[in-house]
Amino acid sequence: MALKQDKDGKRLHVESALMGESLVSNAFINQLAVAPQERLYPDVTVLKIGGQSICDRGVHALPSILREIVANRPDHKMLITTGGGTRSRHIYSIGLEMGMPTGVIAKFGSMISEQNALMISTLLSPWGGTKISHSDIVKLPTYFKDGIIPVMHGMPPYDYFAIKPKVGRIPIHRTDVGLVILADLIGSRNVLFVKDEDGLYTDDPKKNPDATFIPEIGAQDLLEKDQDDLVIERPCLEIIQNSEVIEKVQVINGMVPGNLTKALNGEHVGTMIYRQ
Ligand code: ADP
Ligand code: MG
Repeated sequence: MALKQDKDGKRLHVESALMGESLVSNAFINQLAVAPQERLYPDVTVLKIGGQSICDRGVHALPSILREIVANRPDHKMLITTGGGTRSRHIYSIGLEMGMPTGVIAKFGSMISEQNALMISTLLSPWGGTKISHSDIVKLPTYFKDGIIPVMHGMPPYDYFAIKPKVGRIPIHRTDVGLVILADLIGSRNVLFVKDEDGLYTDDPKKNPDATFIPEIGAQDLLEKDQDDLVIERPCLEIIQNSEVIEKVQVINGMVPGNLTKALNGEHVGTMIYRQ
């Protein structure tokens, strides 16, 4: 390892491309050559089971989705994450009323999404469902060798360090964002949001009967469209655009039996949002 002294001889550096840099300079970052990102587990499908959209429907939605997951276990490696849903919204609104900072609101979100992960993993436990922590992600190959279906809570662990958004104090990086960050981390080729609408529309179809369906769209185009409401959290789009490994994410209607299986098999159901 080559050591190098500062000009004044009072500090030692280890010679590398980053030596002595602040890592802030745009000019420096733009010219820095980096190796293409490794795909750690490209064959693992990451799928989020919606909180409000699916989990909160309980017996009216979960059994058929879980049956479909179990039926696909022999042919697919699936890492499941969970949203928070109604209970998150309830504690968020009380927390906001009571002046809680963004970091506390985010921590609430993690705790609720963990409740749903506990429930889903417990329901799946006869078929290998196992609740895992974020730090267990590197153990995925071992889990799949043992026939385990890993289930993880979906909130990215910013928790108390969640950054206050420009307006209000609801953290913008919630469980949809968690799935996209996870997909970037492990290099998944298949990224599925299981929700309760057929995919992305021009507006919330629950509120606007004139909203029209969008079968596929580029993340950059969708960002530029600046729609008032979206089926996935807005920061997902920028993360997809900046990713070196995510090619597309798919939003499917988990209330329609068979959709999950089709999406696992690479069929175009729902909406594809791809990196441009
Ligand atoms: P989850 O619980 O999976 O996070 P959300 O309820 O937070 O799901 O988000 C999904 C919901 O977003 C859909 O059920 C739909 O009502 C709403 N939504 C808002 N805007 C759109 C849109 N442009 N296209 C489709 N759905 C939308
Ligand atoms: Mg949501």
